[in-house]
Amino acid sequence: MFNIAYYQDLRAAGASSALIRESLECCLLKLGRGVYSVIRRCVNARHLMYAQFIDDDEWIRYHEEQAERGQQARDPALQARYREHLNRLRILSYPSYRSGDAVWGISAAYLHRIRMFDVPRGPITVINPRDSSRTAEIERRRRPTCDDVEMHEGAVTTTAARTAVDLISLLGPAAGFAAMEQVLRRHLLGEDEDLIFRLGYPPQLMDDVPGAVDELFAGPLSRMTRGSVRAKKLAKLVSPLSESYAESRTSLLLHQLGLHEFVQQVTVFDGRKQLTRLDFLLKGPSRLDSADGDGSLPAARGPGARGEPRVALYVDGTQKYADGGFDTMNKESRQHNRLLAMGYKVIRFKFNEVMSLFTFRQKLFSQAPELKQLCDRHLLL
Ligand SMILES: [Zn+2]
Repeated sequence: MFNIAYYQDLRAAGASSALIRESLECCLLKLGRGVYSVIRRCVNARHLMYAQFIDDDEWIRYHEEQAERGQQARDPALQARYREHLNRLRILSYPSYRSGDAVWGISAAYLHRIRMFDVPRGPITVINPRDSSRTAEIERRRRPTCDDVEMHEGAVTTTAARTAVDLISLLGPAAGFAAMEQVLRRHLLGEDEDLIFRLGYPPQLMDDVPGAVDELFAGPLSRMTRGSVRAKKLAKLVSPLSESYAESRTSLLLHQLGLHEFVQQVTVFDGRKQLTRLDFLLKGPSRLDSADGDGSLPAARGPGARGEPRVALYVDGTQKYADGGFDTMNKESRQHNRLLAMGYKVIRFKFNEVMSLFTFRQKLFSQAPELKQLCDRHLLL
C-alpha cells in the first residue's frame, strides 16, 4: 500500500543516497527517517528503478490529478487532509517499533482520525511498559498499556476511547472533550456522516448515551493515575450530537458558563415545512412552543424570563459556505429572517470565536444579556 520503500530497499535496487536525495524533488516522497513513498511513474531514466515499488496505482493517480489541477495549493482543507494522511502513513510505516510499543496520544489520534486543532507535527508518540526514550523521530514513554490497546491498520494502538481520554492531559480538557464526543458519535451512529445526515438522528439516541459512555470510557477512566476527577466530569457531559470540532468546543463552553440547558440539533418547522436545524437552542417560554410546534428532541426546561425570545446558536465550524456557494448563504439568510420573525434570537459564531471562553462569553452576553441570569453551577475544569 502507498508504494512504501525503505532506504535499504532503495539501496538494494541500486539507488545511491545522492540519487535518493535528488529524487525527492521528483517522484519520491520522504515520510520519515529512512521511509519513502513513490508518488509518480517517472520518465527520468535514472528513476525507473522506483517503479518496482509501485503496488498502489490509486496513490499514483491521486498525485497525478493533484499535479494537473494544482488544486492542493489552492484548497487549504484538502491540503490539511493530505498532511494528515501523510502523517498516518509515517506512523504506520515507521520501521523501528520495539516489542511492547503501542502508538498512543497524538499519533494514535491521527490513526483514529480524531479531529484536533493546531497540533504540531512532532515525533511519533508511543507507550511501552518497559522503555522510555526520545529521538526526533519517536517519543517513547514508559506506561502500562493494560486492556486499552488494539490492532489498528496493522499497528498496535491505544483504543479510540483511551486515546480520547489521554488527550485531556496531552492537549487540554477542551480538546479531550471534543475527542471523546467524536468517539461517542462514531460508536453510536457510525462513520458515514452523509448517511447520518440523510437518516436523521434516531429518536432513542439520547437514551443510549449513558450506556455507551460507560461502555467506552469507564475502563480507561478507571485506569487513569492522574486527572480522573476532571475526566469523569467531562464524560458526564459528552453528547453524540456535536457535528464538528467547533460544536464540541461550544458545548463545553456553555457548560463552563453554567448554561446547561441548551439542546443540540433541533429541527425547526415553519408550519408543516422543515425550516432549518439549529446547532444549539435554549428554548424559551411555552407560548412560542405552541405557535409553531418545533422540536424533534426532548424539550429542554425553558429559561425563567417570560416573553424572552428563544436563543439559537449557529457555529460555523465547517466548510459550509465554501461548499454550498452563494445559494447556501442566500437560503440561510432567508432562514435567518424567518427565524427572527418566529421569535428566535439567532447568534452566529465563527470557528475562532469558540476557541476561547473570553471571546465566546463576550459575544454571547453582548447579544443575549438575558442569559446571564440563567447561569448556574459553572463547570470548573
Ligand atoms: Zn523521478
